[in-house]
Amino acid sequence: MTTTRQDIRRPARPAPPAPRATWRVPSSWPQVLIYAGAVAVLLLWWHGTRSVTGLDGWLTEAGRVTGLLAGYGCAVLLALMARIPALERGVGTDRLARWHAMGGRYTVSLVCAHVLFIIWGYAVTSHTDVVHQTTSIVFDYPEMLKGTLGFLLFLGVAITSARAARRRMRYETWHYLHFATYLAIFLSFGHQLANGAQFVSSPLARAAWYTLYIGVAVVLAWFRFLMPLVRGLRHDLRVAAVRPEAPGVVSVYMTGRHLEELRVEPGQFFRWRFLTRGLWWAANPYSLSETARGGRLRITVKEAGDHSRALARLRPGTRVWAEGPYGGFTGARPHHERALLLAGGVGITPLRTLFETLPGDVVLVYLARRPEDLALRGELDAIAAARGSRVLYFVDEPAGYSLPLHGRALRGLVPDIRHRDVYLCGPPGMTNAAFRALKQAGVRRRHIRNESFEF
Ligand SMILES: Cc1cc2nc3c(=O)[nH]c(=O)nc-3n(C[C@H](O)[C@H](O)[C@H](O)COP(=O)(O)OP(=O)(O)OC[C@H]3O[C@@H](n4cnc5c(N)ncnc54)[C@H](O)[C@@H]3O)c2cc1C
Repeated sequence: MTTTRQDIRRPARPAPPAPRATWRVPSSWPQVLIYAGAVAVLLLWWHGTRSVTGLDGWLTEAGRVTGLLAGYGCAVLLALMARIPALERGVGTDRLARWHAMGGRYTVSLVCAHVLFIIWGYAVTSHTDVVHQTTSIVFDYPEMLKGTLGFLLFLGVAITSARAARRRMRYETWHYLHFATYLAIFLSFGHQLANGAQFVSSPLARAAWYTLYIGVAVVLAWFRFLMPLVRGLRHDLRVAAVRPEAPGVVSVYMTGRHLEELRVEPGQFFRWRFLTRGLWWAANPYSLSETARGGRLRITVKEAGDHSRALARLRPGTRVWAEGPYGGFTGARPHHERALLLAGGVGITPLRTLFETLPGDVVLVYLARRPEDLALRGELDAIAAARGSRVLYFVDEPAGYSLPLHGRALRGLVPDIRHRDVYLCGPPGMTNAAFRALKQAGVRRRHIRNESFEF
């Protein structure tokens, strides 16, 4: 089923101007910084190590260098999740989450290697067995009891974060268990300075380590905890209305003060905390489904579980804390002057604002299961009419109106697809198929921007 702009009868609204782009960190900078930091840590170890001889020497030094890198890795993992706006915009929240997950695997491996090498190395040096040496390290060395507790907690979080275990538990359970890493890192910080050979002998190295950890702690506390609180008070955001859009889909309208200060870009999302019974403890991510203007924000939400379902029952006047704006799924730094927006189901939400504001020739292709699932259709038609763009709808039911996601079909629909930036948002199955189809159609990977609704 397709609709073209010729079918539209509604009066057109002019598209609002795109807001001024805010500064974002180029995505390669954090990677360069992380690797440079790792090299600095290796230099610190090199500088503090005179000579390595014998099996015990090699084992102990392997334990020291993995320990230093693991300590550095912990600080990087926390910084990646500190929700620093420039980083969130430049790199993108989903990419940061992928880096965090990958870095987490490296860091856990380094922590385990550190523990094994140190125990083994010390056991060889003192000619004792590993069990006796472990007991001695845990109970006789300064800060080691706390360090051991931190290690066990860290290991517990790693096990619950493994894909198989995560699939079996609720998102919130996994999320809150993850907070135990803060405690694990706090508990194990002391043993690094008290026992690390490089720190014991060098006040400069100690100062650098304190600076790293205190810097990360300040950034975390500010962006994750204090800023949402300050913003919540300043903007006084409240639910104004909740309206149905499609079966199982509602829009939540919110009003507040000084919202222009948020400098939201079309395509971005916030983490929303609704201060009402049953919802205040969770902050879930939802994209804006309307360009922020005139003291009003809107999200459009499809029920997926407890949080999203409860939004249909929000009462006007409910206070809201919005953490953001986040995400690099915006029109910044385009490769082409034309764009193709590819939406699947509720993935239409960030694309709705991009459809309204991206400059140049824009085509929107919107896939859903049934015609009644095409949320925001009236608005999309009005935008298409106003800007003279094409919007094409496809549904799985009734049969005969679906778009087969392969290269030929996409090229038939949008012949100049190779010369367009593609913005893609939809459920995982659809986006995987779309990536393959776009590749077949000759679209380069770096010209495709994707917003994933799953971290
Ligand atoms: C950047 C982004 C933008 C999004 N925008 C929209 C939108 O505009 N409209 C919409 O309907 N949905 C959107 N989502 C999806 C939405 O966040 C989830 O469907 C919702 O949080 C599910 O929570 P729940 O308690 O209802 O369901 P649950 O059963 O608890 O969760 C279902 C799945 O949603 C994901 N999820 C749950 N909570 C979170 C969280 N706090 N952070 C990240 N993922 C989570 C997990 O993958 C989980 O398996 C977006 C997600 C992301 C990451």
